[in-house]
Amino acid sequence: MELSQIINELGEDREHYFNATTPPLIQSSNFSYSSVAEMARHLDHEDEIPFYTRGVNPTTDMLQQKLAALEGTEKAIVVGSGSAAMAMAVLSQVKQGDHIICVRKPYSWTNKLLDILLPRFGVETTFVDGRDPKNFEEAKQHNTRLVILESPNSWTFEMQDVPAITKWTKTHGLVTIMDNSYCSPILYNPAKDGVDIIIHSATKYISGHSDAVAGVICCNHDNYEKIFSSEFMTLGPAISPFNSWLLLRGLRTLPLRIRQSGETTMKLVEYLHNQEKVDQVFFPFHPSHEQYELARKLFKGPAGQFTITLKATDEDKIEGFCNNLNAFQLACSWGGFESLQFPAMTLYRSKNYNKTTFPPNMVRLYTGLEEFDYLKNSFDKALEMI
Ligand SMILES: *Cc1c(COP(=O)(O)O)cnc(C)c1O
Repeated sequence: MELSQIINELGEDREHYFNATTPPLIQSSNFSYSSVAEMARHLDHEDEIPFYTRGVNPTTDMLQQKLAALEGTEKAIVVGSGSAAMAMAVLSQVKQGDHIICVRKPYSWTNKLLDILLPRFGVETTFVDGRDPKNFEEAKQHNTRLVILESPNSWTFEMQDVPAITKWTKTHGLVTIMDNSYCSPILYNPAKDGVDIIIHSATKYISGHSDAVAGVICCNHDNYEKIFSSEFMTLGPAISPFNSWLLLRGLRTLPLRIRQSGETTMKLVEYLHNQEKVDQVFFPFHPSHEQYELARKLFKGPAGQFTITLKATDEDKIEGFCNNLNAFQLACSWGGFESLQFPAMTLYRSKNYNKTTFPPNMVRLYTGLEEFDYLKNSFDKALEMI
């Protein structure tokens, strides 16, 4: 199905709601029936039709249909956060005594899940440099069940040769999960390269307006059944119908927003490469990135996250730069309408994150929907502080 048809039409049954062009927000926890027989029929299909909103809700279901189609998977389950999506996807595939291989430096709460929470239940993880597929083969143990990838990781953007890795996992019966938040389903569809389960922080590009926290798991029918009837219904990370409705609205402009964010980032990265006070620029779609060819092979185009290191060691100067980069709000997250900066200095000063391996002169940036000149002028001003 074509992209525009998925975004504007799929799952929308307008004659059932007064021909409204916009989807209805079914803000209801439960659904009632006119007879015992009808209620019994719905109860038996609570994984397919609305019965109780911890399971299926019509507004969320419309969103799930679109997200599955965008990722090219049979099913999608939308949940209350990206972290919940990763946790449930992982839990659904492992049992006590199993072993996981994950790319090094994954998203911080994925790291905590694998490094702290799962060992309590007898599941161990080996972290490998994912840039070389051989590292996965070397880390394999007799009890390895699962391989976790990220497309790419945030901050330094290391990527994996996904087709090469899935070719190997399939010959050994291993399951692959990929965090595809960075690319969104617009720039990359890991299922086409053989990945079994794809998760997103829908808080980021899919929502796009910095107003809703959400996650999605995209997978085949079997994994959907498995996750729905176990992790999803017992842990209960249901999204509110209102947030699903916001995400449906966000989806309408997803391709446009990504294009704008990626195009402006290309220009900013080029400009920053020519600034003498900037040391390194990390961005997968610049020829200077060591995996540039792989990025071009896997992804349809550039996204809006990039990282710089400044030619400065003095904390006051780094802080001066960040505090004066006014067009980029100091905030976590990314994928919304607004440009953002996340200085590594904040990690050093945090009790919880001070074990970071990122240098203090590193700043992660995200390009929103502002004009290039507006953002460039802000850099000009901030770089004067160094
Ligand atoms: C934000 C993020 C997550 C976690 O998603 P939440 O919606 O914040 O729970 C996972 N992976 C990546 C790459 C992220 O950027």
